[in-house]
Amino acid sequence: MKKKGNNNFNKRDDRPQRQSNFEGHQKKPDTRAKVNGGVFVYTKPVTVSELSEAINIPASAIIKHLFMNGKAVTLNQTLDDDTIGEVCLQFDYDFKKEKLVDATHFEELEIEDDPASLVERPPVVTIMGHVDHGKTTLIDAIRNSHITATEAGGISQAIGAYQKEVNGKKITFIDTPGHAAFTAMRARGASVTDIVVLVVAADDGVMPQTIEAIGHAKAAGVPIIVAINKIDKDGANPKRVKEGLLAHDVILEEYGGDVMSCEISAKKGIGVDALLEMILLVAEMRELKANPNRYASGTVLEANLDKGEGPKATLLVQNGTLQATDYVVVGEIYGKIRRMSNEHRQILKAATPATPVSVIGLSGVPQAGDRFMAFPSEKEAKSIAEARALEKKAASQNASAARSLSDLNNLVNEGSVTDINVLIKADTNGSAEALKASLEKLSTDKVRVKVIYTAAGAISDSDILLASASNAIIYGFNVRPDARVRQKADEEHVEIRLHRIIYELLDEMSAAIKGAVKIEKVEQILGQAEIRHIYKISKVGTVAGSYVISGLLKAGCSIRLLRDGLIVYEGKLASLKRFKDDAKEVKEGYECGLTIEGYNDIKEGDIVEGYELVEKE
Ligand code: GDP
Repeated sequence: MKKKGNNNFNKRDDRPQRQSNFEGHQKKPDTRAKVNGGVFVYTKPVTVSELSEAINIPASAIIKHLFMNGKAVTLNQTLDDDTIGEVCLQFDYDFKKEKLVDATHFEELEIEDDPASLVERPPVVTIMGHVDHGKTTLIDAIRNSHITATEAGGISQAIGAYQKEVNGKKITFIDTPGHAAFTAMRARGASVTDIVVLVVAADDGVMPQTIEAIGHAKAAGVPIIVAINKIDKDGANPKRVKEGLLAHDVILEEYGGDVMSCEISAKKGIGVDALLEMILLVAEMRELKANPNRYASGTVLEANLDKGEGPKATLLVQNGTLQATDYVVVGEIYGKIRRMSNEHRQILKAATPATPVSVIGLSGVPQAGDRFMAFPSEKEAKSIAEARALEKKAASQNASAARSLSDLNNLVNEGSVTDINVLIKADTNGSAEALKASLEKLSTDKVRVKVIYTAAGAISDSDILLASASNAIIYGFNVRPDARVRQKADEEHVEIRLHRIIYELLDEMSAAIKGAVKIEKVEQILGQAEIRHIYKISKVGTVAGSYVISGLLKAGCSIRLLRDGLIVYEGKLASLKRFKDDAKEVKEGYECGLTIEGYNDIKEGDIVEGYELVEKE
């Protein structure tokens, strides 16, 4: 191992002492409420009698004050934060809710490093842009530039990230291009990217995914560098790109904004060096720093089960130094690192901040976006992982969890505190993750919305089982269950809620959380028919020879067209025929011919689902 700056870690005995991340943080924090210099400090909701004792005001006075203000409380009632604040102010106390983090919840720990212990770290860069604008080509171009002697001989392995040394400084690139991975990480609460390179093809200009990428970068508060690519092409028009970006509030320096840009040809390697230097410049302005002298913490970039080596994960060290013999906790998994290597399969003894490493030795496969932390001893890592596993189990078995929205509504109206577990299936991973984030944000003091699983694709049998096992409701976004899955859901008493519009879904959940569910019109499924033959008839359009597989279809009913469980169209039946005659309805087990209003792209194997809206309280 001949990496600059890491030499001091080579021999065990030379290793600098690293600080534990929980030094100064109690492992079992004192959670008692107390008064400190006129400030009432508490960590979790207190009862009237606890508050009374702490601020030394008779409970009767507190109860009286609240009563006069319209709140009837009893001695042992737990007060919410607003009420605690109100009482403190009334009796001339300041108040502060302290966030106590014990090692079990290390993700919540906000490490405050002494500025003197911070050193510069490499920037972490993600490349985004519209499909075919040259992201992959650029990643390869960067990979193949500035090849050092150590890299030249190495056999590279795809670990999801790599580092490049430019002018003596390192840059870390996340090498899954695109914003889906970026957003999936963010949705899991992980932010790893410091700088986004937005690739825009000069011959194509700003396109839908360019705009999406801008939105994602802005939402994450990450600066953008624009790489105008394919300038070698005949139709290249960088000016059009720049003006196109203006319309989306990406204002380049030459227009008086603060976004840097450069013109490149990823294919021919033109301008790539200038781009790399620009990245270093932006990184320098951001003063990216970390403290290498503590136990490492960071994020899982990707993970899989390797047939030969077992669980294998790429970890991005974000603070501290990870050593090749450390004990690491991630999710409910812990393990002693058995081998740590970089993208060139070189074995590393230590990984400093912003270094991506592939590790083996974990006892299971973590999820991308999970945070990890290294601990000084196996005992500590093990007990933390076990505590986390217990908590997770308890949470999933939470008896008070509501099993349906109306359940939730009732529990809220009874004044109970509850969880609602949610499983999300959506047409894309991106929308599933976005929904997860938005739903969880709806949580209140009384109701915690917990999304236990998200995935793209149709709702399946195993989703029903998972939901049943974890007392969860299923939200389907732009997907439909087939008749069999629906039946399984009925058997397992799993509620499935289906939506096509995000805010309607969120409104519904938010109403249930407030105890105000009013479902006015509910959908009643009539039945499903399978498309077996397609006939193209001029003037009429596409007629679908179909077979009703469950329930019935009614003339003119609302329908949705499903392909592999995903909704491809929603509308109405234009016609429904038995042989040559119009039919009012066609029942299960009968053939029929149908056309869909304004839609001809029907395919064999598609399912037509008929439904009606019926009024319900
Ligand atoms: P991605 O979908 O954004 O990852 O795009 P790719 O990197 O796969 O590139 C799409 C196509 O554009 C490929 O055929 C590349 O060879 C081509 N391409 C990428 N960069 C350039 C460039 O700078 N100049 C030219 N002429 N073609 C390029």
